[in-house]
Amino acid sequence: MTGHRGGESNRPLISIVVPCFNEQDVLRLTHQSLIKSLGGERNFDLEVVYVDDGSTDSTLEIIDEFINSDGRVVAVTLTRNFGHQAAVTAGLQYATGAAVVIIDADLQDPPEVILAMIDKWKAGYEVVYGIRERRQEGRAKRLAYFTFYRLLRKLAHIDIPEDSGDFALLDRVAVNALNALPERNRFMRGLRAWVGFKRIGIHYDRPQRAAGQSKYSMLKLMKLGLDGIFSFSSKPLSMILLVGVISSVVSMLGFVLFLIWSLTDIKIFGRTPADAPGFTTIVLLLFFLSSMQLLSVGIIGEYIGRIFDETKNRPTFLTRPVRRSTKSGDE
Ligand code: UDP
Ligand code: MG
Repeated sequence: MTGHRGGESNRPLISIVVPCFNEQDVLRLTHQSLIKSLGGERNFDLEVVYVDDGSTDSTLEIIDEFINSDGRVVAVTLTRNFGHQAAVTAGLQYATGAAVVIIDADLQDPPEVILAMIDKWKAGYEVVYGIRERRQEGRAKRLAYFTFYRLLRKLAHIDIPEDSGDFALLDRVAVNALNALPERNRFMRGLRAWVGFKRIGIHYDRPQRAAGQSKYSMLKLMKLGLDGIFSFSSKPLSMILLVGVISSVVSMLGFVLFLIWSLTDIKIFGRTPADAPGFTTIVLLLFFLSSMQLLSVGIIGEYIGRIFDETKNRPTFLTRPVRRSTKSGDE
């Protein structure tokens, strides 16, 4: 893959990946705006990859229209609704550009921003991601996003930029790295951070969708959030161990105190353990067994955390091409 179309031009090819799920109300407008903002550019060629994520409305027919009227359009049709992240993954596999831009179909990511992204790319950045400045979604959704990004940042071991969505430009090297990751639960903005490369954010205002309804139900959004947290952090597992350790220390103390109490016959609230035979035994056993259980679950959690890391099958590291000195050896 050269990233150049036909070979007769040396303009780079820019691919735009657009995941679409039931977007009949907005898709024509989106295509027009994309072509208007990017189609006339003379210093790059354009390819627009529409990924139909199992739409049940006329989205697919509309994409067919584009194909028949515009040689720059590529259609990828998924056999059913696999979800936004899977659709983006498919788009990245089939995009051939030297740089690939991922953009929502509903014009919530302004196509004009792509030109600014391309400028950054030309300046040498390999990952240029959009940072959502002013959201116009409802208060509840905004609060959910806000908490999620901060929680994820606290839990994840990698630097996922806050308020960055999927809207981004990726250089071919980053696209190839992402395509090579074998895992199935794909939280793209996490993976994008994970692969590294030289990156920069661009701020933009996120308007409401131009037409149609959000395709992210609260349930889908929650699944996305959980994918984000659980694919990038095993801290929840480690926390069980921490709680287990703390509670066993506390229960050891309780154990000793109860033992002393029952041996010395001191009155607390006017009672001694001797007033209720068997009470001390039950409390001591309860302390002991429950803290042992938490501790064991925590230890199992540590192993599961490691198994989980291995099954993700991500490579241990990624490198750029290795460079060797061309100087003759002994100077
Ligand atoms: N989308 C998709 N498959 C899905 C859900 C959404 O391909 O199962 C696409 C959708 O067509 C849009 C993008 O993902 O291009 C973002 O979805 P949406 O705008 O509904 O999400 P929101 O902006 O409300 O978070
Ligand atoms: Mg949207």
